[in-house]
Amino acid sequence: MFEKILIANRGEIALRVQRACRELGIRTVAVHSEADEDAKYVRLADESVCIGPASSTDSYLNIPAIISAAEVTDAEAIHPGYGFLSENADFAEQVEKSGFVFIGPRADTIRLMGDKVTAKQTMIKAGVPVVPGSEGALSEDSEEIVKIARKIGYPVIIKAAGGGGGRGMRVVHTEAALINAVTMTRSEAQSAFGNPMVYMEKFLEHPRHVEIQVLADEHRNAVYLGDRDCSLQRRHQKVIEEAPAPFIAPKDRARIGERCAEACRKIGYRGAGTFEFLYEKGEFYFIEMNTRVQVEHPVTELITGIDIVKNQIMIAAGEKLSFRQRNVTFHGHAIECRINAEHPYKFTPSPGRITTLHMPGGPGIRVDSHVYQNYFVPPHYDSLIAKVISYGDTREQALARMRVALSEMVVEGIQTNIALHQDLMVDSGFAEGGISIHYLEKKLAASSKTD
Ligand code: ADP
Repeated sequence: MFEKILIANRGEIALRVQRACRELGIRTVAVHSEADEDAKYVRLADESVCIGPASSTDSYLNIPAIISAAEVTDAEAIHPGYGFLSENADFAEQVEKSGFVFIGPRADTIRLMGDKVTAKQTMIKAGVPVVPGSEGALSEDSEEIVKIARKIGYPVIIKAAGGGGGRGMRVVHTEAALINAVTMTRSEAQSAFGNPMVYMEKFLEHPRHVEIQVLADEHRNAVYLGDRDCSLQRRHQKVIEEAPAPFIAPKDRARIGERCAEACRKIGYRGAGTFEFLYEKGEFYFIEMNTRVQVEHPVTELITGIDIVKNQIMIAAGEKLSFRQRNVTFHGHAIECRINAEHPYKFTPSPGRITTLHMPGGPGIRVDSHVYQNYFVPPHYDSLIAKVISYGDTREQALARMRVALSEMVVEGIQTNIALHQDLMVDSGFAEGGISIHYLEKKLAASSKTD
């Protein structure tokens, strides 16, 4: 096992990774920007290194500064968390070339999955169902493009191969608008992602977002840890996640889960990963794979009792998974609310000093958060300040516990979206479960609170 790990991230995930390391008896190195000097996880780490000014381009995305921090502290491995450099194949490559272990998949796997066209082709080969669409990137031939769209049937969506974060996509409803949409998406993709390749998919009208968590070791053992429903989104950003996904029969979950685990074995996947699907009318359609730990991993941890972050570290150290698929069982239901420093209905960021803070607790409540009373939420980064996760024997109990937790939570000095979560916890559509990815935006559009 490693003796020392450098955590190349900030916020709640830096603390989450640090907790896993400490539990495993591994020393930790925190790297931080000038704006995060006073962060709790920086104080709690065995060592810390300032890697640059507040702007993430100069700090959390600064590859040479992170690698030299690992060198001066004699760390053996680097955990990238999520966001920042976690899905940057060049970073993974440079980490390994510099003699450190990257806690994640190999660089070539990250590269393969980072390009949506090659990711999709890989999944087709591995027997994972995908959204019907063009066989690869679209050519320049307009007639050919029109033919493909006719075959798929309108509406279609044009997506950038290098896209991410919900950007680089355009929905097309008619043939008249098709070629212009392809041209525009192509030029946007070139300027935003440096890659003009685009592809076409059938646009699904009312899908849910259902994803499968996997863990795979270097010895070709791969397991799936069930599914999560992350349909409650705004601008393609997840707001609430839960596990298991409502109304999915255990045999359907097992079937898609097996496919994902098998795909991991086929591509020689290593580490934790998530297969994201759109789910409509009983069918799963792969959209992308995330080759890192996800924000919403705790809901899976609560229903399986498996520590995903500890497993990432053990896998990176070359260990075999300590359990088999038959040992993975699902108990109860878990829900996660992402608490952001932002206006609950206008979504404007609200950085600043937290003057009063009371975190919830009690049966079935887990809070993953790096903030404390008097903490200053810096304006430079993601607005996530806490994840409140509730667990219950049933979905109803998890919902009830979340309502209690949110009512106990007090954050003063900045605005948060707690009020929005409280509304959603009594929303009849959400209570029923199985809502589509458009549900929240429709609800917000109909609400007077957003004015
Ligand atoms: P990104 O990497 O930018 O997150 P994804 O491929 O994961 O891109 O798609 C993001 C979101 O866009 C999905 O969660 C879904 O809301 C929407 N989307 C993507 N492809 C389709 C499709 N074929 N039909 C309907 N919606 C889609």
